Amino acid sequence: MLVASRAFGSALRACPCRSACNLPKQFRTEALQRSRHFPVAYRPATRTMASEKDKAQQAAAEGPPAAQQPTIFDKIVSKDIPATILYEDATALAFKDISPQAPVHFLVIPKKKTGLTGLSQATESHEQLLGHLLVVASKVAKQEKLQEGYRVVINDGKEGCQSVFHIHLHVLGGKQLGWPPC
Ligand code: AMP
Repeated sequence: MLVASRAFGSALRACPCRSACNLPKQFRTEALQRSRHFPVAYRPATRTMASEKDKAQQAAAEGPPAAQQPTIFDKIVSKDIPATILYEDATALAFKDISPQAPVHFLVIPKKKTGLTGLSQATESHEQLLGHLLVVASKVAKQEKLQEGYRVVINDGKEGCQSVFHIHLHVLGGKQLGWPPC
C-alpha cells in the first residue's frame, strides 16, 4: 500500500501539466485545471447544459475576443501544452477533448485561425479551410472506428455555448446519440 501510494505520488510529480499549471490564467480552462492534464475518462452526463451556459456567458462577459488573441488551442498547436493528438497536417490538428462527452470525442481545429474565432466570423476566404476541417473530421472518424456514425458540432457564441474562441469542430460518437441536442 505504501509502495503504491509512493508510486502514485511520483506519478503526480511527473505530471506533464506542471508547465501548463504555470500558464497565464486565460489559458486555464476549468476542464484543464480539473484534469491536471491526465486524460479524463468519458463519464456520461458530466457536462451539464447549465455549466456550459455558465462558461459561455462568462466568456461573453469577458468581452469579444480579439481575432488574433491566442487561445489555449494555440498552445496545443505550438505544443506548449500537451494533448492527445490524433491527426496533424500543415493546416489542421485533431486531438482528444479533455472533457469527453461521448466515448469518442475529439476536436478538429485549424492551426492558424486567421480571424475564425468562431463560425460566425466565416467569409468566402475561409471556404477552403472550412472544407478541409470537415474532410479531416471524416478521416479521423474513420481512424477512430466510428463506422456506425457520429456527430459533428460547431458551437458558436454565447447562445451556442462556445467557450474557446478558436474555431473547432467537435466530433462525437461511439454510442447511440440522442436528438435534438438542446
Ligand atoms: P466549446 O465549448 O465548443 O468552445 O468547446 C471547447 C472544448 O474544448 C470543450 O469541449 C473543452 O472540453 C475542450 N478543451 C478545453 N481545453 C482543452 C485542452 N487543453 N485539451 C483538450 N480539449 C480542451
